[in-house]
Amino acid sequence: MARYTDPSCRLCRRERQKLFLKGTKCYTEKCPVERRAFPPGQHGQSRRQKVSEYGVQLREKQKVRRMYGLQETQFRNTFAKALKQTGRTGELLVKLLERRLDNVVYRLGLAPSRKAARQLVVHGHFTVNNTPVDIPSYLLKAGDVVKVCDKAKKMEVLHSSMKRMKDTAMLPWLSLDKATMTGTFLNIPERADIPLNADEQLIVELYSK
Ligand code: ZN
Repeated sequence: MARYTDPSCRLCRRERQKLFLKGTKCYTEKCPVERRAFPPGQHGQSRRQKVSEYGVQLREKQKVRRMYGLQETQFRNTFAKALKQTGRTGELLVKLLERRLDNVVYRLGLAPSRKAARQLVVHGHFTVNNTPVDIPSYLLKAGDVVKVCDKAKKMEVLHSSMKRMKDTAMLPWLSLDKATMTGTFLNIPERADIPLNADEQLIVELYSK
């Protein structure tokens, strides 16, 4: 499976906001968006022509896609899946992204970023309903229980991440028992409850051309 391996915070500069793609960097002033708040590359500082409607839609899609750590093909496939469901496609897309196992591990506070969560999942450190699952795109259903495997429970990355999360309120559709490192995906969240600063309607428009 292909994945993006170039400097993460370059993408923060592209979208002109912190994307928290990499564990700790965006939480500090090391994230270059603080010093160089313009897009990367040769033309980053050149005066821009008016951004086209397409340009606006593209940037929004790229931002959401990168935040959830998907490659274009997989993102497009997720969109196709949302399109088949009844309801508002943009909202359905965000809900599908939110149900991914790597995202839930990150949201539970067991990893400092979705990228780190993805790696923990791929390395087989989690079970879903007591069955080992090492697929980051695995979609959770209401009531699913995500557990850290016994052999992984001592991993420093889990503990430092939980420590950082301790003052942050858990999202209403998730619960975590820290002692047993067991998380529950209580229900599929409503779009309004999902902390994602994006206008997914622009993505629907982009893909509907
Ligand atoms: Zn950053």
